[in-house]
Amino acid sequence: MRIGIDDTDSPRGMCTTYLGAVLIRRLSRAGIAVRQARLVRLNPNVPWKTRGNAAVCIEAAGSPREAFRLACSTVEEYADLAHEHTHPGVVVSDEELPSGFYQRAVQGFCTLPEALEIIGNAGALSKGYKKKMGLIGATAAVSSYFDDATYEILAYRDRSCWGTPRLVERESLFAADLHTYPHTWDTVDRENGVVVCVPHTPDPVLFGIRGERPGWVALAREEVISERPSLEQVWITNQGTDAHLIPGISPELQEGCSYLLAGTVASVPRTFKGGHVSVLMTWGNQSLTCMAYEPTKGFREVVRALLPGDRLRVAGSYKKGSINLEKLQVLSAPEGAVCMPPVCERCGKRMTSAGTMKGYKCRRCGGRGREPETVMIPRTITPGWYEVPPTARRHLARPLCRGVREDLLSLVPAP
Ligand code: ZN
Repeated sequence: MRIGIDDTDSPRGMCTTYLGAVLIRRLSRAGIAVRQARLVRLNPNVPWKTRGNAAVCIEAAGSPREAFRLACSTVEEYADLAHEHTHPGVVVSDEELPSGFYQRAVQGFCTLPEALEIIGNAGALSKGYKKKMGLIGATAAVSSYFDDATYEILAYRDRSCWGTPRLVERESLFAADLHTYPHTWDTVDRENGVVVCVPHTPDPVLFGIRGERPGWVALAREEVISERPSLEQVWITNQGTDAHLIPGISPELQEGCSYLLAGTVASVPRTFKGGHVSVLMTWGNQSLTCMAYEPTKGFREVVRALLPGDRLRVAGSYKKGSINLEKLQVLSAPEGAVCMPPVCERCGKRMTSAGTMKGYKCRRCGGRGREPETVMIPRTITPGWYEVPPTARRHLARPLCRGVREDLLSLVPAP
């Protein structure tokens, strides 16, 4: 059977994965064998999510009724039910649920009536609390399948520590990263010199290390020096897999969905107040603004180096008429040529126009020139992939150290 849980947390605390880790131990004690612990990230752009929009799915063997009873009592004990935006859901099913529901929940939007219909059709056990919105994520978690998966080991804090500053030795995280990257990632952000894997929110997570295999995350974890965690759990997850990206081939982009698109740069990039950078891209016969916001730090330099005519693939979420860039591929960035007035042979200074059809004139010596000079614009960007730094990465975004998804690229041909 599969046990799905979602929406137990709030901005002031809790974490559905912690609740899942507690439940896993309770299931084991009750004689229910846990086969797999899945951390399922869903569409990060749904408006009602808390933080990362994570649900959990526990695969287990035993009595569904007993598992359901334990799951509900754990939710009732730990979920932040008093918070106005916390509406937990629990689903237990010993039947497979249609995977299309997961697909839509990670790439788009699902409704509560759709979740209830699936639960009803499968005869699954379910309980929704308050507005029951968590039933959507819980159903999506139970129906999830991973074409590609990564792992995360999460260490959770003792309850007495929740809300207090976390004690994790910074240098040990940099050492763990140094010894295991690129098999683990996003532990630290070297370029910006910051720790990424330790949250600052008041939830029970102490730190989380993401990687390609359980062995790699365990190896990195061994190096971490910190306050004593009360609980640790390795999750298999769709994090870092680009499961949220839709190949952008239909002419309609939907608000809140994330896409991989191919196009041509159509404007010189602009930097706005606050350091946000935008560039216009033509995609099919429409134009689309691509944004690199200030938190994307050095990635903005990549966007600023683009010039009209450059051919790109971009990945990011579509919000309010623009693509919020997660990564981009420069397919070609040809040197541009501009015509400039010639340089005066006597003074070495660039001449200025002497007027329409009158050639050029040196302002210093009065010398004349007829032919303009063709000057190549040097490029600072070369073809290849570029991504936002770990501090700005979305959970689902596949880091370039994992390579790119060729199956997705083949669906989005170069412009
Ligand atoms: Zn001159």
